[in-house]
Amino acid sequence: MSTPHVPSRLPQVGTTIFSVMSQLAQTHGAINLSQGFPDFAPPPLMLSRVAHHMATGSNQYAMMHGAPSLRVAIAEKVARLYGANYDVEREITVTAGATEAIFCAIAACVRPGDEVIVFAPVYDAYIPAILLNGGTPILAKLAAPDYRPNFSELRQLLTPRTRMMIINSPHNPTGSVWSAGDMAQLAVLLADTDAVVVSDEVYEHVVFDAATHVSVMHFPALRERSFVVSSFGKTYHITGWKIAYCLAPESLMAELRKTHQFVVFSVSHPMQLAIADFMRDAPEFADDLASFYQQKRDHLRAELADSRFRLLPCAGTYFQLVDYSAISEMTDLEFAHWLTKEHGVASIPISVFSPQGSDLRLVRLCFAKDSETLANAGARLRKI
Ligand code: PMP
Ligand code: GLN
Repeated sequence: MSTPHVPSRLPQVGTTIFSVMSQLAQTHGAINLSQGFPDFAPPPLMLSRVAHHMATGSNQYAMMHGAPSLRVAIAEKVARLYGANYDVEREITVTAGATEAIFCAIAACVRPGDEVIVFAPVYDAYIPAILLNGGTPILAKLAAPDYRPNFSELRQLLTPRTRMMIINSPHNPTGSVWSAGDMAQLAVLLADTDAVVVSDEVYEHVVFDAATHVSVMHFPALRERSFVVSSFGKTYHITGWKIAYCLAPESLMAELRKTHQFVVFSVSHPMQLAIADFMRDAPEFADDLASFYQQKRDHLRAELADSRFRLLPCAGTYFQLVDYSAISEMTDLEFAHWLTKEHGVASIPISVFSPQGSDLRLVRLCFAKDSETLANAGARLRKI
């Protein structure tokens, strides 16, 4: 008896960089500024509501599309923030993280031969999901240092086979954000097409310098062709709970749910109820998140101001790109390994988000960390 040989569906894909770098940080006892997660606790009220719902018996399956109280809280939130009305029964689904929502949206829409436009640097979960569903990823370029969308390039990339475009603002890993003008241009660009949009807005509450998040939901012409995805992990410091949501017009959502119900069926019940309670009882938490993270961004930037790292702009997310070309000629992958092993700070090399390759000397640092962590990392990075 031997194990059958199964040709890989994803021959070019290895283990995600987030696992690789977090593991390396652990092995070397390094400060982990690589994988994006907070090193501080979620709000105590959130935790006490989980305990409450577990103790009072909400330990069985939640509804397939999400606990009603959570879907109501989501509907109220997006109506308040974006003036968008989504039907609680038919147009909102609670998912196992944004990752599952994005996968299911792609599985719902993309068939062999379809083209999906993504922007490089591209978050690493998108392309494997497109490939698994037989689609062809088409790369639009976001160019350093501002990483703005280039609409004349986009116009040329659109074809009759374009089934989907995946956008992500605020953008991981670059920290760039789309303006209202960008969204308006996108609406015009797609007007006569059959392309759907997946709008990955997981950092919707983390936009800096008094700017406000621009959502596809602000633009009815985009909203009607979009799956909008957000993640409670980012908003409430609970990345490990893996709970997020997706919004879409009824016909698109019906298709997404056909996949969602057979991938996970439903998502942790007591946690959904706790998030719903928290959204109702502490709506200001999400509103305050931008200033909370802006202080952390500014702290990290101040730590590095006198270092040999050059800071790129950061308009949103909890990631800071730094250019190390004054320090080393190494590739970013080599540099990130070296930095972890020799200087005890783990980062993310950003060439892994550029399928066409990148020779930029850039790594990403996560600043969703408490002050002591940022100060310790700063002290180590200034010595290099
Ligand atoms: N999209 C982006 C841009 C992200 O940064 C992340 C996670 N950091 C995700 C999707 C996945 O979110 P989740 O952990 O909720 O699956
Ligand atoms: N999105 C997080 C990051 O960018 C990581 C999520 C994950 O590890 N899958 O670091």
